[in-house]
Amino acid sequence: MESIKDEVRIGLEVHTQITSLKSKLFCKCPSDYRGKEPNTIVCPVCLGLPGALPVLNEKAVRYAIMAALALNCRISEKMVFFRKNYFYPDLPKNFQITQYDKAGGVPLAVDGYLYIENQGQSKKIRIIRVHLEEDPGRLVHIGPIDQSPYTLVDYNRSGIALLEIVTAPDMSSPREARLFLQKLRNILEHLGIFDGSLEGSMRCDANISLAGGMRVEIKNITSFKEVERALNFEIIRQRGLIEKGIAVKRETRHWDEIRRITVSLRTKEEEQDYRYFPEPDLVPVVISKELIEEIRAEMPELPDERVKRFMSIYGLPKYDAEVLVGSKYLADFFEECVRLYNRPKEISNWMMSDLLRYLYENNLELYESRITPQMLTEMIRLIDEGVISGKIAKKILPEMIISGKNPKTIIEEKGLVKISDERLLNELVDKVFMENPKAVEDALIDDKAVHYLIGQVMKLTRGKADPELTNKIVKEKLRKIRGEHERLNVNIHL
Ligand code: ZN
Ligand code: MN
Repeated sequence: MESIKDEVRIGLEVHTQITSLKSKLFCKCPSDYRGKEPNTIVCPVCLGLPGALPVLNEKAVRYAIMAALALNCRISEKMVFFRKNYFYPDLPKNFQITQYDKAGGVPLAVDGYLYIENQGQSKKIRIIRVHLEEDPGRLVHIGPIDQSPYTLVDYNRSGIALLEIVTAPDMSSPREARLFLQKLRNILEHLGIFDGSLEGSMRCDANISLAGGMRVEIKNITSFKEVERALNFEIIRQRGLIEKGIAVKRETRHWDEIRRITVSLRTKEEEQDYRYFPEPDLVPVVISKELIEEIRAEMPELPDERVKRFMSIYGLPKYDAEVLVGSKYLADFFEECVRLYNRPKEISNWMMSDLLRYLYENNLELYESRITPQMLTEMIRLIDEGVISGKIAKKILPEMIISGKNPKTIIEEKGLVKISDERLLNELVDKVFMENPKAVEDALIDDKAVHYLIGQVMKLTRGKADPELTNKIVKEKLRKIRGEHERLNVNIHL
């Protein structure tokens, strides 16, 4: 109805830290700044003191090239660092060492793409450039940014190596933006250079326009869930303006996670002037073909290849393989399970259904839960050995996720071992038959009513009765009753 008029175009500018590095991008300060006393992991270089000279971290360049290759980019033969000048408290030098694609600047890599899968459809998202830059310090606002009485600054993060990844405005819904970020994270995690579970390791700015109108930039989005929320909010806000006949202004807005709204930061009449110029303290870096090929040869398996391997080696359907390879942690978890107990299809089924559903409903990531591959495979083994029923397994799985207890411990604590004592089950079935004469009558004629009787036995044992054995006993008893009826009928006719 309003498809063309309402066309949504979303582009992303993503900053991801190269978290596997041991030191910062231009100095020897350690990179594990999280949880440290503020302003303790600093040196003259990352504090921007006069006379300090930056030295480029070689590993950072190799990892950045690896990321750019995985994103199908063209790697530049030579890259140049630029100074991006602006005055802000998180930036002690008053400029950020970064890369630039204009005025003689050459970023590390350009012209890439990746595919996202949205409801069975593949969509290509173009990547305009990938470059290396330093992270600024961390500003800590008190409450919402526009109401904060004062702001604290911590330079421990200053100088951490960042990849900036800029896409074309190829996404047409907030959901696609989230899928892009998930895929990006998955690729970087498979490369072993990035850990998305670390707070603030992937940050994102989004630009969004509606119906060919002005582009609004949203800053400071800190997680995948927030991206979708912020963009959804912005679509509603812009639509509201358009409906009232008010033009959407070109501006930068800040996403307020707490109030879940965007607030205007500054209105842009034109591109901000950062007075970019080449960084005189760093020489241009030549990237040889040999180096690129060497790095390409070292690249580990990427998600798309892993999906194919899961299909061929484990015989999983495409959909299942894609879900399991949706994150590196999940895929590693699955393969560790298979290594412990070679039942890939069973393991996949339990992960795809009960495990992921529980995590989703409780807003948890697998790495936040306490279940391990040992626990999950132990549980499946107990089912296979006939110790517990599938029904009981479904009960103990959430317990493993929350408490991290072994399935055997949970079974013992809760007395959940399957009842497969034939004599005991016989007695229970007798009891059910006595208490449900009508259902027994029905079951004699209609096979479907048999399930009701089995259900009553299950209810009596709180799901612990061995389902197969119960089934057998109930059917045997019905057969006996039928036999007796027939004998009686014969007697009468005599
Ligand atoms: Zn330093
Ligand atoms: Mn940047």
